[in-house]
Amino acid sequence: RKRPRLALDEYERGVRACDRAILAQAITLVESRDEADAALAQALLIRLLPATGNARRVGITGVPGVGKSTFVDELGMRLLGRGSQVAVLAIDPSSTISGGSILGDKTRMARLSLERRAFIRPSPSGLSPGGIARRTRETMLLCEAAGFDVILVETVGVGQGETAVSDMVDFFLVLALPGSGDELQGIKKGILELADAIAVNKCDGDGAARARTSLGNLRAALRYLPRRRPSWEAHALAVSGLTGEGLDALWDVVEEHRRTLEASGDLAATRAEQQRSWMWSLITERLERTFRAHPGVARRLAQLEADVVAGRTTPPIATDKLFAAFALPPDAAEPA
Ligand code: GDP
Repeated sequence: RKRPRLALDEYERGVRACDRAILAQAITLVESRDEADAALAQALLIRLLPATGNARRVGITGVPGVGKSTFVDELGMRLLGRGSQVAVLAIDPSSTISGGSILGDKTRMARLSLERRAFIRPSPSGLSPGGIARRTRETMLLCEAAGFDVILVETVGVGQGETAVSDMVDFFLVLALPGSGDELQGIKKGILELADAIAVNKCDGDGAARARTSLGNLRAALRYLPRRRPSWEAHALAVSGLTGEGLDALWDVVEEHRRTLEASGDLAATRAEQQRSWMWSLITERLERTFRAHPGVARRLAQLEADVVAGRTTPPIATDKLFAAFALPPDAAEPA
């Protein structure tokens, strides 16, 4: 992938005008590992930041099969009907840029992907651990600057991703399925504590009665959970992405959440905390990049890693050696 870079002004103008081709290129720039791209991306974000921050940022998570694509497609269509512009950022930990997820997402959200006021972007996270949050957050900011007033960040519920996503959205929605008995399916430990709402999905046809039973149990269980934010208690709803049942009510909850958190100051506090966490993810990433790029470290890293794997040395000793190398000026001769 080597396409010519645009000038900063062109990116800025194109994104602000919601030129989809340029928005897509700007996202690619933000995702790039190239140093010059990274510098340009940073300059672009600085220019665009004043135009960000007004969207409804909603994270949606759930295990494969819970019905996320169907749900997002239907919810997105309803929001377009309300006059919104909707961006969907789909994070799939197993995908990479070349992994075919771009085509996949087009077919997964069959109606939304055809809409001019919708924008669907897969966020491949297979390339870097911890890179999930950074690129998705910056992609979200670009979409906001382009005028999208709803950003849906969809993530497959398989691990670390959820915390990173809940850390960059205002509202975090967990999709679950009614189980065979009292249980809910697809809820992992710790995930409920992150949720602003839990939606029991597939509440339609034969499944409706079970979904309602699960909902009652869920509501009872939620009373015992600590609140994530002082002013908001997690809501539980029954929905169907297939029929659209409950989706308007769900969006009312998102809006109520917004008003409540704005009034209480929790929204400002959340956003402030997110800025801090963004800063730290940038610091961590740049530190690692700097560390790996240091000639003294680069020279010894592969060997020390192999030694650790083979049990010839221990992780603490290897780490000490690498930091000793890192502490020397980059052009220093090899330490004895
Ligand atoms: P994802 O893996 O979470 O994105 O789930 P999909 O949206 O691909 O849905 C998985 C399966 O469940 C598909 O066969 C869908 O047709 C079905 N499905 C999705 N949403 C619903 C729903 O609301 N009700 C019912 N009955 N089936 C659904």
